Amino acid sequence: MKIVALKEYKLRYPVQEKFANSSSWNTSRSAQVVEVVTDNGITGWGEGSGELKGGSAERHVIGRSPFDTETIWQDLFENGESPRAISGVDIALWDILGKALEKPVWQLLGGKVRDRIPAYASGLFYKDREDVTRALVEEARGYVDQGFRAIKMKVGFGEAYDVKNVAAVREAIGPDVLFAVDANCGYDVGTAIDVGLKMAESDLFWYEEPIVPDDVEGYLEIKRALPMRIAGAEALAGRRAFRRLIQDRALDIVQPDISIAGGFTECRKVATMADVNRVRVLPHMWGGHIRLAATAHWQATIPDWPQVLNPIPSLFEYDMTENGLRTELAKNPIRAVDGDVPVPDAPGLGIEIDREVLERYAV
Ligand SMILES: [Mg+2]
Repeated sequence: MKIVALKEYKLRYPVQEKFANSSSWNTSRSAQVVEVVTDNGITGWGEGSGELKGGSAERHVIGRSPFDTETIWQDLFENGESPRAISGVDIALWDILGKALEKPVWQLLGGKVRDRIPAYASGLFYKDREDVTRALVEEARGYVDQGFRAIKMKVGFGEAYDVKNVAAVREAIGPDVLFAVDANCGYDVGTAIDVGLKMAESDLFWYEEPIVPDDVEGYLEIKRALPMRIAGAEALAGRRAFRRLIQDRALDIVQPDISIAGGFTECRKVATMADVNRVRVLPHMWGGHIRLAATAHWQATIPDWPQVLNPIPSLFEYDMTENGLRTELAKNPIRAVDGDVPVPDAPGLGIEIDREVLERYAV
């Protein structure tokens, strides 16, 4: 089996109602989709988060065996391709391997440790609303009503907004729902600690990206000052970018994104590094349906630790915001049921891409 074609599609989906995290407004969603075709007619799909450089990628992919996942990754990287772009190629190769061997990707990765991944509803963004607190409370209650036992809310908008709204949402969801917050690098160290201490009264499971990911010493200061777990690193690309945050134990939870960090091949290495250093891995997921499926296969294989009767759950980031690239792109989408994401059992990624939708959103 040889690779005969490599195609890229840049997709864009305009959202109906814009929403913001601490750093920017979202008016559209995007996805960088890769299609890899083999000489026996198998097509693999991947999603990255950056474009390949024209010409050079084809030279290192076409004519190769799709089983050469490691050497293709290294050849692309050494020839200047970014891990963000390589992610899409790598995910497509694993999709091909699964389809060729008639096995789901999680089985090629060594087997799954769970059939369903407990999910957290990732939403509660800032929107232009008259009564923001009331809107957040209603949104949070809706997630609990849908069966989610964990939710995440956006913070980083200043102490007054964060402390008041986090307390209101905690009050609305009750004490038993696991509650995390995400500041999207919105603070400096001092502010992150000050606001974090006040939000801690709302019993937070983790505090995500209080500061920028390259400030390892800052993360260590925050981690020592605050009682809740500190999470981050969703935007890091390539295994070596994670080295200090993991080895210095600057995070309690590391959140690699399979379409940014470098696909299955690279994320397995990040997970091993985290395991050796006793840092919890909870993948980040924000994108189209191929990214969602790939994340489910990878996350299905990450063992619980400590392996006890009642382990801390591996939580899937289930994006609740509007994105047709996530909800329309697969003919057989993976959907949360009663707050859990079922792990697909069909060969490869286990999803069928709707080419009409692909063309509709291609730019
Ligand atoms: Mg985040």
